[in-house]
Amino acid sequence: DQAPRKAHSIAVIPGDGIGTEVTPEGVRALKAAAERFNIDLTFEDFDFASCDYYLEHGQMLPDDWKAKLSRFDAIFFGAVGMPEKVPDHVSLWGSLLQFRREFDQYINLRPCKLMPGIKSPLADRQPGEIDFYVVRENTEGEYSSIGGKIFEGTPRETVMQETVMTRTGVDRVLKYAFELARKRPRRKLTSATKSNGISITMPYWDERVKAMHGAYPEVAVDQFHIDILAANFVLHPDWFDVVVASNLFGDILSDLGPACTGTIGVAPSANINPEGDFPSLFEPVHGSAPDIAGQGVANPIGQIWCGAMMLDHLGHEDAGKAILDAIESVLAKADPGVLTPDLKGQGTTRDLAQAIIEAI
Ligand code: ATP
Ligand code: MG
Repeated sequence: DQAPRKAHSIAVIPGDGIGTEVTPEGVRALKAAAERFNIDLTFEDFDFASCDYYLEHGQMLPDDWKAKLSRFDAIFFGAVGMPEKVPDHVSLWGSLLQFRREFDQYINLRPCKLMPGIKSPLADRQPGEIDFYVVRENTEGEYSSIGGKIFEGTPRETVMQETVMTRTGVDRVLKYAFELARKRPRRKLTSATKSNGISITMPYWDERVKAMHGAYPEVAVDQFHIDILAANFVLHPDWFDVVVASNLFGDILSDLGPACTGTIGVAPSANINPEGDFPSLFEPVHGSAPDIAGQGVANPIGQIWCGAMMLDHLGHEDAGKAILDAIESVLAKADPGVLTPDLKGQGTTRDLAQAIIEAI
């Protein structure tokens, strides 16, 4: 028996550098999974949110980008950046950060999963021992521009910048994290704060965790200070299942987590609007990698794994898992003719993607 076909339209934005090399492979993997699981996916390519577009038009996005992208169910994004021609703050602020704000993608989600055949920088860690998610608040918190400078240029020079937490903003990220924890076998949520040092906003976050825990009695909750939590990412990564944190702490943990799995080059990330009022965006953690762009040797796994996260988000968890299983099976075989040079092989982007697609 096959489930009724569900249709989803996907905007594909390759961006710059290796983004243009790995996104087509990600789309091919998605098509293979869609065929196997009878999902109706349609794709449309866009050339904006790239530095080539900027060099031609003087802006990263067309004026009507929001209308153009709003009708899609998700955005499949490659990478943006061409630092030798366009400063990073221009390319980033003019594209991804606009999407994040205008599409209210208030969740940043990153899996931290040790994959077979990839060496963790942490000694003796085996696949299965590191498998958790970092959920980062993506819209408020420490990253506010409220503050100022007084007595500039004098010995009394003083600067300050405020942290903003709203009940709506805190509760919605906690709710997402509790829901995610509830669906996972271990049902464990870890919250990162620093309530002994930051005495108003961080205790507020702790309070909201306690308040929401009442609605999720089946989830076990741990609360850690960020300093010892960071240490435990390295010492005891097997303790974690779902980790939730404010914008700044989440930013740090969502780089540290994938680093512990040795996969920062092959890791995916998602910027999610859980209600589906706006499209969510899926992009690999890596950037446009100008140093290897144009050679056809970029590792496509980060992009393909993004496709798995996108299918999860669209409600096709079986298809998402099939993509992830395919990635794991190809990595476990460790065929140097297939793996790309960053994984010590001699394969091309195409070779590695093709092996994964065949496994799907
Ligand atoms: P960002 O654009 O996010 O600031 P960055 O400029 O710091 O990122 P990347 O563009 O990710 O960094 O490149 C960092 C290094 O990792 C480079 O040497 C690059 O070649 C390598 N790298 C990144 N992604 C890949 C990939 N998919 N396959 C192989 N190597 C990669
Ligand atoms: Mg860069």
